Amino acid sequence: MELEKVLTACTRDCPGSCSIIACVEKGKIASLKGNPDHPYTQGFLCPITAKYLQKRHYNSQRVLNPLLKVENQWKKISWNQALDIVAEKLSKNVKDYGSESILYYQGFGARTALRILNKRFFNLLGGVSTLYGTVCGGIGQAGQEMDMGTRISHDPEDHLNSRNIIIWGRNPAITDIHLWKIIKKAQNQGINTIVIDPVKTRTARRVSQFYQPKPNSDAYLALALAKIIIRDQLHDMEFIKNHSENFFNYLQIVDKYSLEDLSLKCDISLENIEELAHIYIDGPSSIITGWGLHRYKQGHLTFRMIDALAAVSGNIGVSGGGVSQGFDEYGFFDHSWNADELAPMARKLSMPTIGQAILDAQDPTIKMIFITAGNPVAMCPNSAKVKKALKSVDFVVMVDHFLNDTSQVADLFLPATNFLEELDLVGGYGHNVVAPINPAIKPRGEARSELWIFQQLSKMLGFADDMKGSAGEWLEKLASPLIKEGFTIDEIMKTPIRVPSSPQTPYSDKKFFTRSRKFRFISRFEMAEKENEKFSLRLLSIMPEKWIGSEIPEEEYGEGYLEVNVNPLIIEYEGLKEGDLAFLESKIASLPVIIRADKESRIDCVSTYRGGWMCFNKCVNVLTEDIISDRGDGTPYYETQVSIKKMI
Ligand code: SF4
Repeated sequence: MELEKVLTACTRDCPGSCSIIACVEKGKIASLKGNPDHPYTQGFLCPITAKYLQKRHYNSQRVLNPLLKVENQWKKISWNQALDIVAEKLSKNVKDYGSESILYYQGFGARTALRILNKRFFNLLGGVSTLYGTVCGGIGQAGQEMDMGTRISHDPEDHLNSRNIIIWGRNPAITDIHLWKIIKKAQNQGINTIVIDPVKTRTARRVSQFYQPKPNSDAYLALALAKIIIRDQLHDMEFIKNHSENFFNYLQIVDKYSLEDLSLKCDISLENIEELAHIYIDGPSSIITGWGLHRYKQGHLTFRMIDALAAVSGNIGVSGGGVSQGFDEYGFFDHSWNADELAPMARKLSMPTIGQAILDAQDPTIKMIFITAGNPVAMCPNSAKVKKALKSVDFVVMVDHFLNDTSQVADLFLPATNFLEELDLVGGYGHNVVAPINPAIKPRGEARSELWIFQQLSKMLGFADDMKGSAGEWLEKLASPLIKEGFTIDEIMKTPIRVPSSPQTPYSDKKFFTRSRKFRFISRFEMAEKENEKFSLRLLSIMPEKWIGSEIPEEEYGEGYLEVNVNPLIIEYEGLKEGDLAFLESKIASLPVIIRADKESRIDCVSTYRGGWMCFNKCVNVLTEDIISDRGDGTPYYETQVSIKKMI
């Protein structure tokens, strides 16, 4: 029997947004395959999504009915009952305490065009409290905006025009497999590939050079490289003179530090710094920055120093050069449909410190929280505080696929559809392509799309007309920037398209989005020194290989504790051995962990995986401090330092 093939795309928190062919047989999805017609992902599907049917879509633990918590037990209820409860709670809170007593928490678990309308719903409701800041990459974006007025990355294919590719604080072999494919292609073409990372990742093992600096010292390393380039008169004076400002202030920073100082600060030998500087200047050289660099309070300084290095060496605005961070996956859609103009002054709470922000909110206090596609207890820093904050609120609604840490403190669970069951569009934060999502099958059980949920509620709350329209009609509106580029909505829904206006090589005209239209060199640089004798090990929580975010099937947890990688010298010093159970202590908490000896781990770091759940003792964010970055409202997870304590 001929299988029906339906084109959809992965909507999870991953830079790929891969286009997928779902093969359907008798109303059931038999298999998922990569779509070879996606200009970037080209038919390759990652091992995580290759198992999506078994581990997520058809998993027996998936919630397929609305659930209400009654006396601490989940009880199945009908959609009519669930929607009545939500509508009643929303309107009562708006009436009694004002719309800002409701917090809408939009997570990053599904990133599609139609999700722009969720915000519209809450604006039509009167403007609820929402989030500002991010637990993702805002810090680097802020740094690049200071230098260039905006953040635009090179098309990933343009890295093939480089002579050297420097992968800085990123592990694409695990976290961005399509970028990794390009890097492997580059290697086959003889392009030099280099990794700079405090952790020896899988990517680091597969490149020609690897440098392992002290965490949060990357700005010093970038400064040292630029210092050598200037010392050896290899800088690009044409760019500096005609297309930049603040160069002399920057030079003063360069002069302030000796190479010996910088080498000590980043813990890379002078010899290696010299070597790297001379590789880099033999360009064009592209720098691909990763999320690791965003995880510090002053992370924007790192990005600014890396941008300055690229500018000094003439690598900005040239094919095969640049400093590429990522793409704005929502940049391809028309945001005005979120109707922010209806509630421009509505309160915003900080996402990086969401637990404290909820607890501190006054006039009005937070009475109700509505969460979509997010697991803030496991993924935000200071998990215990986030949990306590959610618990302190009268009513928490969550829309998701599985019960998790957050559902433990939720009152109502609404089952959501996934990318095999809905119509939508998705952009990517790893490339410039927009891909269609078509429903391959009817939603399982009683799962419903977020659009459907908000449209039902809008009917009950008296603003149905402002939310009405089929998914297809809304997508035509949301995709208007693409339609202006010459596509019809039918074309957009039929096959992935690379957005033509996205540049292959940004800033090739050497015009920037700053006021002067010039590149702006960093002119002030002061890094706070972090010394804490009690907690001397940097806690690095890296992206795992086997799951996305906190999407770990419950049945895979089993017994045990979070495993952490520690240098054997530290293990010995603490009187421990490989496999021992010990406590990892930060300023805010203590967590039992299993010690794993890793001789390639730096002696000032402990590394582990993020995304584990608190209820299984595997949540690293129990230890991470809830603070916010100096710029970009980001989450400095890696500011947390820990110590290891033997169990008695
Ligand atoms: S998880 Fe990432 S790499 Fe895997 S299918 Fe989804 S977008 Fe592609």
